[in-house]
Amino acid sequence: MSSTGLPSSTSPKLLGFANHNHRQCVANALKEADQYCLNYRHRFTHVRRRTLGILLESHSAMGAYELLERLNKEALGSKPPVAYRALSFLIDHGFVHRIEKLNAYIACSHPGLEHDPAFLICKECGVIGETPVMVSAGKLAKTARQSGFEIHAFTQQGRIRANS
Ligand SMILES: [Zn+2]
Ligand SMILES: [Zn+2]
Repeated sequence: MSSTGLPSSTSPKLLGFANHNHRQCVANALKEADQYCLNYRHRFTHVRRRTLGILLESHSAMGAYELLERLNKEALGSKPPVAYRALSFLIDHGFVHRIEKLNAYIACSHPGLEHDPAFLICKECGVIGETPVMVSAGKLAKTARQSGFEIHAFTQQGRIRANS
């Protein structure tokens, strides 16, 4: 996995908002995670893999309890630590972000790429586009820093034009 620069094949469109082969999108993301865990000798347990798989189903965020319900239905565990432990592994390794504002989790659209989690959230349908930009290197962050404010994550609400 490269940690700098955009791969040349990356479309400039945000996955969540763009028409794309989502089945392929999910398959690729899981394959990348498999490879990463293999390379770095991390145990990609069934619970961890399913947690990522469930979050990858849609380009929107899911709360921990909804996730736990899903894991429970698949007999992977019913106690909150099961979900939280899997989530914390996936967050630590850059496969999932927690969107604090929504108190929910989303699969990263750019794993392996150096980026700040920056999300554009559609108020109508909840679909989220994750941008690959470095908000911390931009003008907004600079202005904020000059006022003594450090941006940790960026969320912006709006509406997918096709929804209105
Ligand atoms: Zn997709
Ligand atoms: Zn990300």
